[in-house]
Amino acid sequence: MTKNNIEDMLASYDKNNLTIATVCSHSSLQIFNGAKKEKFKTLGIAVGEKRKFYDAFPLGRPDEFIMVDNYKEILSMTDELREKNTIVIPHGSFVEYLGPENFLKLNIPTFGNKDVLMWESDRNKERKWLEAAEITMPEEIKDPEKIDKPVIVKYHGAKGGKDFFIAKTYDEFLQRIKKGRSFTIQEFVMGTRYYLHYFYSPIQDDAYKLSKGSLQMISMDRRDETTIDEVQRLGSIQELEEIGIHPTFVVTGNIPIVMRESLLPKVFSMGEKVVEKSLELFGGIIGPFCLETVVTEDLEFKVFEISARIVAGTNPYVAGSPYSELIQPDLSTGRRIAQEIKYAAKQGLLQEILS
Ligand code: ATP
Repeated sequence: MTKNNIEDMLASYDKNNLTIATVCSHSSLQIFNGAKKEKFKTLGIAVGEKRKFYDAFPLGRPDEFIMVDNYKEILSMTDELREKNTIVIPHGSFVEYLGPENFLKLNIPTFGNKDVLMWESDRNKERKWLEAAEITMPEEIKDPEKIDKPVIVKYHGAKGGKDFFIAKTYDEFLQRIKKGRSFTIQEFVMGTRYYLHYFYSPIQDDAYKLSKGSLQMISMDRRDETTIDEVQRLGSIQELEEIGIHPTFVVTGNIPIVMRESLLPKVFSMGEKVVEKSLELFGGIIGPFCLETVVTEDLEFKVFEISARIVAGTNPYVAGSPYSELIQPDLSTGRRIAQEIKYAAKQGLLQEILS
């Protein structure tokens, strides 16, 4: 959507009566809770019986629901949503359920810069962006015959690590690869995983300053992935592989974590470079984003993925994290999003943070 288009839509909006909406899944409890804390009206878009479980969490329950048979119906509800002065908050499931092409067509003011999707959803473009920002990524192995160390094979379009596998040799690769699916092979980085939750504001200067706006680091997590994270309870991976049991990487939850304080300058420097390059390439990665990293024994970060919106790893921190407590008590990423919208609405800058 062009800037003009957004400005036209916002022209009819009552800026003192905005509604924050999202799809009822992923990080929606946190998004609604944060919006309520900032005194916004909230609206949940839900399929089927999902609504019921929100009754158990009154402070994360949206004020109102719109029920749909499938998420694509949202595309035909844009008039109704705009009448309610709605701003939509995208999250991973929102984009996935709607489909990236439909998400790009969504004719409702949406938090963040939709143009990031083109750079994030294509692994080659993602690598181009991150390497241009001088971020170290795991080595990519283009020719499977050249596998001479542990690698991870990732299928394109697979969500949440589904069917990914580890191979140590070309033979192992041949045994496991599923025909007909496109894939990327990456060096398997040995180390500890940290998923870093940043927030970039192009309109506020009161944090880690960048060429335009400023950067915060709100929290970090480690994903709990089945079966890789628990498989050793049954025996060594080697033993299990011998009887045909292979570890998998399906995300089931998130674990709070903090990092050695001496590594934080590197964390900010990486975030800074990613944002500065994004400003150059496509007008900036606005709002929350996550760098998914492995820290090696030499204390080097290798970034294997970027998520360009709120990640579910922020969910352990509905009431703040050890880092966000140092910004403001009780600050979640969901609340930080609501604050950015509130500030922009007050200053007449909404068109700078929506697309
Ligand atoms: P999502 O979109 O949910 O982030 P995805 O399907 O794109 O997931 P990745 O995040 O790239 O998948 O990888 C899934 C998991 O595999 C990671 O959380 C991590 O545990 C492991 N992993 C990925 N890349 C590497 C790597 N190069 N070295 C070691 N482990 C890795």
